Amino acid sequence: MTSLLTLDQIIGHASVLAHLKRAMADQHPGHAHLFFGPPGVGKATVAAAFVQALFCQKKGAAGDSGCGQCPTCRKVAQGNHGDLVWVTMGEGKTRIGVEQIRQLAGFFALTPMEAPWKVAILDDAASMNEAAANALLKTLEEPPARSLLILVTRQAGKLLPTIRSRCLKTRFSRLAQEDVRRILLSGAAGAELAALEEADLQAVMAAGGGNVGRILAFSQGDWPALRRQFRQEMAILPSVSLGQLVGLAEQWSPPERFAFVVVLLRMWLQERLHATVSQTGTGEGATREGWLKAAFWIEQLLRQAAIVNLNRRLVLEAVFIRLARLQGASC
Ligand SMILES: [Zn+2]
Repeated sequence: MTSLLTLDQIIGHASVLAHLKRAMADQHPGHAHLFFGPPGVGKATVAAAFVQALFCQKKGAAGDSGCGQCPTCRKVAQGNHGDLVWVTMGEGKTRIGVEQIRQLAGFFALTPMEAPWKVAILDDAASMNEAAANALLKTLEEPPARSLLILVTRQAGKLLPTIRSRCLKTRFSRLAQEDVRRILLSGAAGAELAALEEADLQAVMAAGGGNVGRILAFSQGDWPALRRQFRQEMAILPSVSLGQLVGLAEQWSPPERFAFVVVLLRMWLQERLHATVSQTGTGEGATREGWLKAAFWIEQLLRQAAIVNLNRRLVLEAVFIRLARLQGASC
């Protein structure tokens, strides 16, 4: 929830950073900001860096960005600055409750201790329940002097329109692949990731999409081993029994594994298609046309699965059976 990155150290989001720096150039950065966009792209990280930049004692030297070194910047990064509060879902809770927003009003009623403003970051703001949202609206309608509210959410559409309309909006986009790679390699797990085979890094980046947190979660699992396991299973697919195929589908169907196997499947199919160009390694009895048709059919199915939430195990069963038959299996 906090970050040790300063605004100048943030990778990607160039237009967002320019927009925030313009806001800072004004006398008051605005009473309420809404940071919205896809999950895992660094919205909360940017929010913390923005607050650092607003509070930093050595900003003159560091320009628009916090210095990251002074006691103020450190307190913001560590989440223990007296003029900054993070409002998130409590442990084991699924929503931000009204009591938390009432406490926020109390926080804003006090004068800042050392910073120019009192700042609250709500993450994820869309998880406020109805009573909490209504209470927040009151704060937004009559913003306390020297207060700044930063709402962070992946689902801006779930916020009350009356809340949205009172915020300065900052839209975050998906990160470019190259930026995702730079973030991963420069982060805490950078050395570990840099030591991986390129194919493993590619696979985990594809599995996580542009979501850095998700990629890191994957990378901390045993996915290089899973990638190898998948390839071994694909190699013996034409010779396994129907029961074993069903077992394979079952084994890859939990949500986190499914996201990963979808990527592995696409990569594997691409390799098979490339191999058919030179007519090597295409497997028994499979023609280039057969592979193309199967790849097209599988892609359609995977897209449908993503859109309408098809049963993951059944999708994988269908895919594995199709691929086994394509290569001559009689299952
Ligand atoms: Zn500083």
